[in-house]
Amino acid sequence: MKKYKYLKETRLIKIKKFLFSFTMQVILFSVLIVSFLALCIFLFYQKLTGFSTFNPIDNVPNILREERVVETSSSVDDDSSIDEKKDSKDIRKNIDSNPTKEEKVSDGSSFLYDSKKNEGNLCDYDFSEWNKTCPPELRVVNGSNPIPKDFKPKSLKKFSNRKSDKYKDVRNSVEVSGEVYDSLTKMVNDALKEGVEVFVGSGYRSFDYQNNLFQRKLKEVLKNEKNREKATKIASKRVAKPGQSEHNYGLAIDFYPIDYSFEKTSGCKWLLENAWKYGWVLRYTRENMKDTGVDYEPWHFRYVGDYAGEVKNYKSLEEYAVAKIKQRG
Ligand SMILES: [Zn+2]
Repeated sequence: MKKYKYLKETRLIKIKKFLFSFTMQVILFSVLIVSFLALCIFLFYQKLTGFSTFNPIDNVPNILREERVVETSSSVDDDSSIDEKKDSKDIRKNIDSNPTKEEKVSDGSSFLYDSKKNEGNLCDYDFSEWNKTCPPELRVVNGSNPIPKDFKPKSLKKFSNRKSDKYKDVRNSVEVSGEVYDSLTKMVNDALKEGVEVFVGSGYRSFDYQNNLFQRKLKEVLKNEKNREKATKIASKRVAKPGQSEHNYGLAIDFYPIDYSFEKTSGCKWLLENAWKYGWVLRYTRENMKDTGVDYEPWHFRYVGDYAGEVKNYKSLEEYAVAKIKQRG
C-alpha cells in the first residue's frame, strides 16, 4: 500500500514537471511569434511610409547641418501613398503618355530658412529690382523671391527620354520650357556620344501642379500638427509653394534618379564637368545652402544660358547676382 502511494506521488511529480516544461515552451514560442510579427509590421510600415533610418543628407558637412533643419530627400521625394499617386497621375495625364510611370518629385524647395538664426543670409535677399532688369535666365527664384502667379513660360516642349534598361521608372517624356529644350537636347546627346546616359526626371511644373504637391504635403503634416498655421509653415519647408520653385519658372531640370544615388552616376560626373558648356549650373550645392535656403541637390540644374561660365565661378546664383548689383553701383 505504501509502495503504491510512493509510485503515485512520483508519477504526479513527473506530470507536474512535464506541465511546467510544456508551459515554458509555449511561452517561449509565443514570445518568438510576437517578436516576428512586430518585425514584420515594422518593415511593412517602413515600406508604406517611406520612413527610413538612412539619411542621405548625412553627406552634408556637420557645420552646415547644425545650422539648418535638414530635410531628407526621401521625405520630399516620396509622395508615395496610393491616393497621392492616383492624384499625381491625373495631374500629369497631359504630360506623360505612359501613366504608369510616376514623376518622382523632389523639390528644390525644402526650405530651411530661419529668419532669426540666418539673418543676413542671401536666401532672404530681396532680388526684385535685379529680377526686373537682369536677363531672364539670370532671374533669382527662391522662397523670398517668387515669380508672379500668372507667369507662364513662352513655350513648352516635350523632352523624350531614351528607353532605359537600368531605370524602368524613368518617364518617357518630360515637359520642359522651350527656352531650354535645344541646349538640354544637345547636352544629353553629346553625353551619349561619350557613352554617358543622362535622363531627365522633372522639368517644368505648372502652378497648379506645384500647388497640388504643396497641398498634399500640407495634408500629410496636418495629420500630426492640428494648428493650420504651424502646419503650413512646416509643409512649406518641405515642398515649395507655387511660384517659389525654379521648376515653375521653367529653367530647372531634375536629372534622374532624383535622389542622392544620382551623385554616384556617370551622368552626374559628366554633368558636373560639362553642363556649364551648354548653359547649365548645379544650383544647390553643399557649399551654398545658406545662399539658396535649399538642401544640397546633386540632381537639380539651372539654366543660365551664356552666363554659365561666369556663374559657375560663384558659390551660388544669389552670390553672382549680388556681385553684379554691386558692380552696377
Ligand atoms: Zn529640382
